[in-house]
This record gives sequence, C-alpha cells and structure tokens, in this order.
Amino acid sequence: MRRLSDQEITDIRSKADIGDVISQYLPLTRRGRNLWAVCPFHDDHDPSLSISKDKQIYKCFVCGAGGNVFTFVQNIEKISFLEAVVKVAKGVGVNIDDALTPVAALDPRKQVLTQILKESINYFKYQLNASGGLIIKDYLLKRGISDSLIEKFEIGYNPGDDQCSKFLIAKGYPPSNAVAANITRVNGNQFSDVFANRIVFPIHDEHGNPLGFTARAVLADETAKYINTTETELYTKGLIVYNYHRALPEVKKSEFVIVTEGVTDVIAFYRANVRNVVATLGTAATLEQVRKLRQMHWHIVIGYDGDNAGQKAAFRLGDMLIKANCTVEVLNYKVPMDPDDIINTYGEEHLVNIVENRIPWMDFLLDYSLSLYQLDNYNQKKQYVLAMGAQIKNLRDDLDRKHFTERLASISGYKFEDLWSIVSQNVKPEKRFEPVSDEKPKADCSKAECEICAQMMISKEAAIRFRDELGYLSSPIANRCAILIIDTYRTNQEIVLADLLTKANDPILHDFILWLSDWPLFPKQANLESLTQAMTKVRIDVYESKIKKFKQESAQLIDANKKAEIANKIIDAQREITALKRGKKED
Ligand SMILES: [Zn+2]
Repeated sequence: MRRLSDQEITDIRSKADIGDVISQYLPLTRRGRNLWAVCPFHDDHDPSLSISKDKQIYKCFVCGAGGNVFTFVQNIEKISFLEAVVKVAKGVGVNIDDALTPVAALDPRKQVLTQILKESINYFKYQLNASGGLIIKDYLLKRGISDSLIEKFEIGYNPGDDQCSKFLIAKGYPPSNAVAANITRVNGNQFSDVFANRIVFPIHDEHGNPLGFTARAVLADETAKYINTTETELYTKGLIVYNYHRALPEVKKSEFVIVTEGVTDVIAFYRANVRNVVATLGTAATLEQVRKLRQMHWHIVIGYDGDNAGQKAAFRLGDMLIKANCTVEVLNYKVPMDPDDIINTYGEEHLVNIVENRIPWMDFLLDYSLSLYQLDNYNQKKQYVLAMGAQIKNLRDDLDRKHFTERLASISGYKFEDLWSIVSQNVKPEKRFEPVSDEKPKADCSKAECEICAQMMISKEAAIRFRDELGYLSSPIANRCAILIIDTYRTNQEIVLADLLTKANDPILHDFILWLSDWPLFPKQANLESLTQAMTKVRIDVYESKIKKFKQESAQLIDANKKAEIANKIIDAQREITALKRGKKED
C-alpha cells in the first residue's frame, strides 16, 4: 500500500476525457461547444449539467454541482476521492489498486483511538451476552430488537464497576488514550467508565470507522436517558450522519434517504425492513450534515419525531435542505410519537405505510405554518398567504404550483384566481445557481481580488509578482486561492483548472475556484498592467477600511488628545491613498 503522488493523479486526470467518463453514466447531447446532460445531482428534467471538453470540467447551472472527472465519479458513485481516482485510472488502463489504503491508516494517533473504540465495541458486545447482560438483552428483545439487529448495529452493554477501563488498561492501552477516546474518565487517581450501566450503540463515519457511542441509561434513576461521546479527536458533534455507511447501498437502490433524530429511530425502521435510514443524532442539524445528506441523495425524506419539538426541527431542517437544492418530503406520523413508539404501538406495516404515503415538503409547510399564524386575524392570515405564496412560487413545476395554490385557497378562503395572480408573477423557469450574467464577485471577495486570482491562474509571472509585491488578500477565500496557486507553480509551469480543482480539497475553496473560472469578467489573457492596478486597489481598500475603523473608534472616545491621535492616523492613511492613486509606491 502506498500514497499516490500529485503527478500520478494529474497524469490519470489528463488521460481520462471527462466527456467519455460521464457518457458512461448519463446520455449526453451536444449544444454549442459543450456537452449537456440531465443533472444527476438534483431533481432535473431539462439538461442543466454542462461538460466542457476544453476545460475538462462539468458544472450544473441549477444546483451548482461541478468539478473535474474525479469529482464527478466520486459524487455519482458516492465513493471517496481515492476510490474515484482508482476507478478513473482503471478506465484508462492504469492499475493503481495498491494505492488504496484505509483513511485512518494515514494518521497514527487516530489509528490508536480507533483501535481502542474497536476493542471497546467488542468488549461491550461480549458483556451483553455474558450472564450480567442477560436482563439487558432480554429488555432489547422485548422491545423488538432481534438478535440479528443487535449484531448488525453492534449493540453492547457497559456494566458498572468500571470494567471496560480496567479491561483496556489490562490490554496495555495507556489510560490517557482511553480518556482521549472518551471511554474512560479520570477522578483523581481513579479511572471510571464513561458509559457505565448503559446500553451502548457505536457511531461510525461514512467509511464505517468507529467514532464514538451513544448510550442509553439502564437504571431508572440516571439523570440523562441518553448520553453521547463528548468531542474527541475522532468525534465532532454536528459532523456525523449516523448509519451513513450501512444506509448508502440501500439509498442507491431506493433513490431517497430518510433522516431521523436518533439511533433507536433508525433501528425501528430496520425492524420494518426499511433500511435507507440515517439519523442526525439530535434535532439541531448542521450545514455539514446537510452537505453529507445531499451527498447521499438529493431526494431527502424527513422522519423527525411527530411531537412539537420534532415538527419544529423538521421545519428548520427542511428549509436548510430546500436551500441546498434538495427535493424534500416529510413522513406524516399524525401522532406525537417517535418511530420506535409508533412501531411498538401500531406495528411494522403501519410504519411502512407512512413511508409510502410520505407528503411533499409544500404540504408539510402549509400545515405546519398554520401553527405559526392565527388565521382568524386578518393581518396574520395575509402574512401566512404571502409567505406560502412565496414558497409556492419557488416550485419548479407548473402543475405543482397550481395544485398548492388550490390548497392555499381552500385553507385561507381566498379565491384561487386572486392567489394565482400573485403566485404566477415573475416566475423563473428554473432557479439558477450563480447566474453567469451576474458580475458581482462571490461573497466577500472584491472585484480586484478576483482579478488578481484570475491573473495568477493564467500567468506564472503574475503569481510571482503578486507573491513578491503584495503577498496577501483580505478576503480569506481569495487568500487561500492565491496560496494554492503559488504553491502549484512551485512544481508546474502553468495552471490547469481541472488539476487545480483536485488540489482544492476543501469544498468551499473548490467551489470558489469553479465559480471564478466562470466569472464573466475572467480575463481573456494575461495582463500585468491589470494585475498591478488590482493590487493597488487592494492596498487602497486596506487603507479605506482602516480609516473606517479609526472613525468608529474616534466616535467612541471622549478624550480630546486621543481623538487628535486618531485624526492624525486618518490623515496618514488618506495620504497613502492619495499617493497610491497617483501611482507612487508607499515607503
Ligand atoms: Zn444539478
């Protein structure tokens, strides 16, 4: 097993034609210079995904998906970057199977913690089947969790008496590592088990490596019914989608993913033979979790609990998913229960029926929002109608817009025609992601900073001049882009966009570079004069933001001497700006 060099990856990328590779997955049509396909990364009906053979990249103008050949294979196959490289390599006759190493193997420290978690999982499983675990196992079986589900989810039992910590230390693991993995806690000189007297459910990453546990109390007097692993080097709350690795193959088959709140919800669905299910481990879903869910599939079904807290969280999660261009549906439990209670009360078939009769996001929104507005108050009714109208307007399908306008009419008592005239005003046929005609630079990055990054992308000389004369950019994303470009020129004479995207391994930087490459003002050719002007503009901007800050500071002050001091600083900064504008360099 070995690591691939950047050069090997670049060679494979340049041997594989992106059009040929994508055509193995999607039918392509030619339009103008580009190839087009129906985008597989959102609910697309017209071809929105363009493939540039010149640039060897693809981009969807609706959902924003894009990248090079590796990004495409990675996202459509839902595999790791390295697996995608190996797959593309095979397609062009290069065998690099020996480069496939488990991710954890790269970091020895994480490997040790992972090993401790694996030992603990086995220990907990053993304890569940030992005599002390009999009552617990009986409890699980009575709750409908069969032996095969216990095995599948690696459910275990951590008895009292701090036996797990003793076991790990006896096996030769330093106590500090058991503490770092959050299996063991230190009280003075004593080591105790974090999950003592609890049923433990291991939590894994997308590749199936263990990260930590969620654990249910066995004793009735325990204050917290559930506790999770605290933040460790492996476990970061808010980054994890529980059951991702087991659910992914099922999601590929069913073509949607159900999101629930917790481990017992996921297990409840497995009892009903519904296996395309994951959990956010709580209701405070994060953008990172949304990104991971979307990576699984663009079609997402929210299955949060039927109680008020669950429905409120579903409302919030749905909004995040819609903004991320997902197609969202909701499970309508109709009772204030969680999936585990529902299956225990109404049976497996009932839960399957709920999945089959899931409702569109817009239906959920119309119903849920009724709890936010008092419709017998005229103003609130009007607000409700306008808010719902704005949502209906965003729907892509004409029939959907008509259908939900009818529903809104029947709920509110307004006439369909009146509502339709609001809903059908200025409807855009498709919601465009970063429209190409928009000349506004992305996010907080100024036009001058975009110009600098763009000039550096097309000219090594520009990059060297930037490095020697300015060396920084105020916008963090543009600055990171500049650093990556300079770094790339250390081993390359020119920048190839598709290869630069490989090196941008963080999604925000990746998207910024992709966006910049399509910037309507992207220079046609290298121009050192434009670079110099842009660098001057960046310097002026720095002084101007300083002046703004000084003025704010001054407004807070009473002391006349200090005010005068700041006034002098402002004059100095203004002098620098004047000099820069005249074309002189500052000292
Ligand atoms: Zn798309």
